[in-house]
Amino acid sequence: MSTPSLETLVQPDPDPTRAAGLERLAQFVPRAGRDYAEGRNHDLAGHPHVSGLSPWLRHRTVTEAEVAGAVLDRFAPSTAEKFLQEVLWRGYFKGWLERRPSVWEDYRRGLDAARNRLATESGLRRAWEEACEGRTGIAPFDDWAGELARTGYLHNHARMWFASIWMHTLRLPWELGADFFLRHLLDGDPASNTLSWRWVAGLHTRGKVYRARASNIAKFTGGRWDARRLGHQLATEDEVTVPEAPPPAPSDMPEDAAWQRGLRTGLLLHEDDLHPDYLFARGLTPDAAAVLISPAGRSPLAVSPKVAAFVRGLAEDAAARVSASLVTDRPEEIVAWAREAGLRQVVAPYAPVGPGRAALDRVAAALDIPVIRPLRAWDQAVWPHATAGYFKVKARLERVLEAIPEDRS
Ligand SMILES: Cc1cc2nc3c(=O)[nH]c(=O)nc-3n(C[C@H](O)[C@H](O)[C@H](O)COP(=O)(O)OP(=O)(O)OC[C@H]3O[C@@H](n4cnc5c(N)ncnc54)[C@H](O)[C@@H]3O)c2cc1C
Repeated sequence: MSTPSLETLVQPDPDPTRAAGLERLAQFVPRAGRDYAEGRNHDLAGHPHVSGLSPWLRHRTVTEAEVAGAVLDRFAPSTAEKFLQEVLWRGYFKGWLERRPSVWEDYRRGLDAARNRLATESGLRRAWEEACEGRTGIAPFDDWAGELARTGYLHNHARMWFASIWMHTLRLPWELGADFFLRHLLDGDPASNTLSWRWVAGLHTRGKVYRARASNIAKFTGGRWDARRLGHQLATEDEVTVPEAPPPAPSDMPEDAAWQRGLRTGLLLHEDDLHPDYLFARGLTPDAAAVLISPAGRSPLAVSPKVAAFVRGLAEDAAARVSASLVTDRPEEIVAWAREAGLRQVVAPYAPVGPGRAALDRVAAALDIPVIRPLRAWDQAVWPHATAGYFKVKARLERVLEAIPEDRS
């Protein structure tokens, strides 16, 4: 069977602006009810059954509360339940990692170890290069590798199959696959990515490995791939082995924080939250504003130029909205900005575990004024319950939706 690529059919590069994210949201809302519930698992040309909102949601250029609110303006919660549950996954993963930061550090250490192996094991290096360049001979896998590199996006089901084939069939270290995604995904996110790869490996829900099956791939890709040929290529159950490691216990929930009124105050945005509506709603009137980005921190290797340009574009768009005088990827320039502006405190949206938080911590460590990090109502509603499996968060959906008015102002 011939295997037509999605290349000619994918949408153009997403525009790195809030206006474009809101436009995509408006276009998607009519499809967020039954259409989404029935079609969302199908990875078809142009991805007609999913929202494609993740590049904006990841950076909170458009927020979860805005997306959920817009959908609920149109549908009853029961009709849009499936979509709302998916949006909630993002918060669940974020909260889970936030309360177990060592899992991110372990991932980075595992990645370093795997990269060291690449330097000494030529067979592994060749297999890794073939996987990244889409030259494994496993047709759908090779196509997804190409689609990811070209577009910065993969459908959720394709991500699951890809990760499964990467680790269970090609036997490549999962950390190298997670890194490949973080270097190319426009929505590359420390929590959703690391924990999804761990989930496929059987490390998140311990012992529950996700295994890509040829019949499943054929069914949900519109019959684009030869299921029989694929069936011979994919790992069988017996071949799947994963190490087991118990997850660490969750740390305490981070606390909300308030700034002092009447002091000269700077607003510092970062790539984890570029729409500080909730801070303005709480009365913030900054005297100066700046934006700190750190896309290069997503990987020890070079992130794709697409990712770097998208993040910078979003940051510049946010800077224009809040009249920020500086967009930079250098923490020391933020320190100089705060000093030159004579600030007495800096307010930044809470940054979850990852390179954005690391950059913010560097700024805070170099300044002798406080960097205050208020939490969004959405995160305060979700994170306390992100202590075990997703079901605990899912059971709170109604309560989380109550956070929308405060978070969406
Ligand atoms: C191996 C693997 C790696 C992944 N890496 C990332 C990543 O780096 N960044 C990222 O944002 N998502 C990641 N995901 C989750 C998911 O695939 C994407 O969020 C989703 O495909 C984005 O497309 P969409 O906006 O069209 O989703 P839709 O189906 O339209 O869903 C709407 C929104 O819900 C959220 N969402 C949906 N599914 C998930 C999910 N499984 N986990 C978390 N949030 C979800 C996203 O914010 C998404 O934009 C990964 C999944 C897997 C299996």
